[in-house]
Amino acid sequence: MRVLVVGAGLSGLSTAMFLGLHGVESLVVERHATTSLHPKARGQFPHTMEVLRLAGIDQRVADASPPDFRFRLIVAGAAAGPVYNEILVNDMGPDLSAFSSAGWANTSQERMEPILAGRARELGAAVRFSTELVEFTQDDGGVTAVLRDVGTGEEETVRAGYLVGADGHRSPIRHALGIGVTGRGVLGTGVAAIFAADLTSVLPRNALVYLKNPELPGAGGALVSTDERGRYALGVGAGEYDDDRWVEMIRIAAGIPDLDVRLLEVSGSSDTKHWVADSFSSGRVHLVGDAVRVMPPTGAFGGNTAVMDGFHLAWKLAMVIKGEAGPGLLDTHTAERRPYSKYIAEQQYTFYVQRMAPELDDGTLAAPADPASMMFFGYRHVSDAVVLEPGDKGELLEPEPTGRPGSRAPHVVLPDGTSTIELFGRGFVVLTGSAHWVVKAGALGLTAHLLDGTAWAKAYGVTEAGAVLVRPDFFVAWRTPDANGDLEGALRHSLRLC
Ligand SMILES: Cc1cc2nc3c(=O)[nH]c(=O)nc-3n(C[C@H](O)[C@H](O)[C@H](O)COP(=O)(O)OP(=O)(O)OC[C@H]3O[C@@H](n4cnc5c(N)ncnc54)[C@H](O)[C@@H]3O)c2cc1C
Repeated sequence: MRVLVVGAGLSGLSTAMFLGLHGVESLVVERHATTSLHPKARGQFPHTMEVLRLAGIDQRVADASPPDFRFRLIVAGAAAGPVYNEILVNDMGPDLSAFSSAGWANTSQERMEPILAGRARELGAAVRFSTELVEFTQDDGGVTAVLRDVGTGEEETVRAGYLVGADGHRSPIRHALGIGVTGRGVLGTGVAAIFAADLTSVLPRNALVYLKNPELPGAGGALVSTDERGRYALGVGAGEYDDDRWVEMIRIAAGIPDLDVRLLEVSGSSDTKHWVADSFSSGRVHLVGDAVRVMPPTGAFGGNTAVMDGFHLAWKLAMVIKGEAGPGLLDTHTAERRPYSKYIAEQQYTFYVQRMAPELDDGTLAAPADPASMMFFGYRHVSDAVVLEPGDKGELLEPEPTGRPGSRAPHVVLPDGTSTIELFGRGFVVLTGSAHWVVKAGALGLTAHLLDGTAWAKAYGVTEAGAVLVRPDFFVAWRTPDANGDLEGALRHSLRLC
């Protein structure tokens, strides 16, 4: 087997799905008997929807969202008020039409994971539940792993070319590799209950209320709607609460003293943490999702970054496995994903402090970024897998798209109404307005798109006589403003073949 993926959460299933899209088989093992039974991470941002569109499941995911997924996001004493801060009012988020043709979805993890698992299987992955990784070793040729059937206890040894650790925030794989983490540590410990109630008199269908209320443990909490109408989750500071106390806390959070409440489930305590792994790879083992990055849930990037990690790792694994890229391409996984992870984790920490824990503000908070321009699309992958231009200082952020190498390829609407972004994803491609570059690209086995007009060239910082080499992850590898330039050298550099 080519790739063994441990963990069937959002990151592991995405990795397997995108590997399948690139024609690489994988085996996903998951110790639980099913995908997540809890709503957990919710919401797909447009950059995530772009990659789900590439995999052919954007519509399935959108259809799984509640019918009208506009959101109310507030800081309040209770759902019924008083409201202290309106963060989103019956909205989905910022207008991103300048950056992407993709929309939003608001599907929770419990509905998203089966869609990912189904598509991964359609694309050739095997997904085995009730199966856990016990131990692994790696050598120059691959990884040897011992798997155990959780039901029978039976063990088997499998061999894979690569191991992907998508095994969550505890990540036994990361521990086994001796990779440490750096961050602000444990921020708090909470428990959550899922309950059924009619809150339509105080909340719209989709809502998240950050609670500030002295009657709740720790004087706060979070109340959130789920995909199921009339089902909600309440999270509060950790403690031992019996059912009566839960009902009392839910009524306080709702602001409705006589609310009819049906308690469905109470979870064990979990820590809110902030850290990023010191490395995302070791030899033939690569880490994704919560295994490399854990942050407060304020911002909804945990689930989105988990999907995007799988997307960004899969093309590199696939090209190395198929012999189209040098093994050094995989060394760029840490260089490209870690700076962005640190940035996103700091942003979510800022939101956490501002919305829920102002007492943690010690003057070291990152300034909140504009999500539209910086958190979804305006970050760069600065590594040896792009050809940086002279004068490029390797900035992580690029608020306005410029088309320079290391940045996301700009979204330009084409004459047929589609986006340039829809031209990318399967392999390296060349955008050009000149037959000269089409011939050059063809000689290298690359797909070239001959584009009309000047709009695309202006957005990408070249002339119509120029060319832009775009990686399968929609990031620009190289560009030349005119008919001059070494396309073959740029490709070999970006694939770490030289
Ligand atoms: C209550 C809760 C609410 C959340 N809300 C949000 C939110 O609103 N927005 C947001 O963006 N994020 C949220 N998150 C975070 C989000 O759920 C995670 O960031 C995301 O699920 C990470 O996905 P993952 O695949 O990396 O890890 P996980 O979903 O944790 O998956 C890891 C999997 O690996 C399996 N595993 C571990 N070890 C082994 C082994 N040895 N063998 C086999 N299997 C193994 C585990 O069983 C698990 O299923 C929330 C998390 C929780 C717990």
